[in-house]
Amino acid sequence: MEHRGDFSVSVAKDYLVFASAHFITFAGHRCEGLHGHNYRARATVDGALDPDVWFVFDFVVLKRLMRELCDEIDHKVLLPLENPKLHVTEEDDAVLVAYDGRLRYRFPRVDCSLLPVPNTTVEMLAEMLAGRLRAKLDAMGARGLTAIEIEVEENFGQSAVYREKL
Ligand SMILES: [Zn+2]
Repeated sequence: MEHRGDFSVSVAKDYLVFASAHFITFAGHRCEGLHGHNYRARATVDGALDPDVWFVFDFVVLKRLMRELCDEIDHKVLLPLENPKLHVTEEDDAVLVAYDGRLRYRFPRVDCSLLPVPNTTVEMLAEMLAGRLRAKLDAMGARGLTAIEIEVEENFGQSAVYREKL
C-alpha cells in the first residue's frame, strides 16, 4: 500500500516517571526553595517505516531506553552545573551548593544528579533527555529516524516539549 502521510511513535508509560527534588533560579535575585515533583516523560520519534516490519521504531526498545533515562535521575536532587548564580562543588561524599556566593545546601553525593544544564526547568530537562536518547539511539545504530521529541510534565497539565530534527 502507498503511505501518503508521516509516521511517529510515542511512549508515555506510568513507569516513565522520576520523583526528584529541585529548585530553579529566576531573573534577578530570586531562587526557589528545594521541593519535588513526580515528573513524567513522554518520548516521540518520527521516521520512515521500516520496510520489513512496517513500524517506525520498536516500542519495546523505546520504552527500555526511556526507562533507563528516567531511572538515572529518579529519587535524586537534580542540580544544574551551568547556572551562573549557583556554584556546585563536590567535597568528599557531599555536594555543596552555593547561591550568590553563600552556601545554601549540602547534600550526600549519592543522592544528587549533577546535570549539564543551566537551570532544572522542564524545558532544560526535556532537552537533556532528548540528547541522551539521541546518544542511545546513535549507539545502537538506529536508522531512518527524522526527529525526537520529549515532553516533561512536572504537574498535571504543566509541561514543556523539546523537539529536535535528526
Ligand atoms: Zn519545581
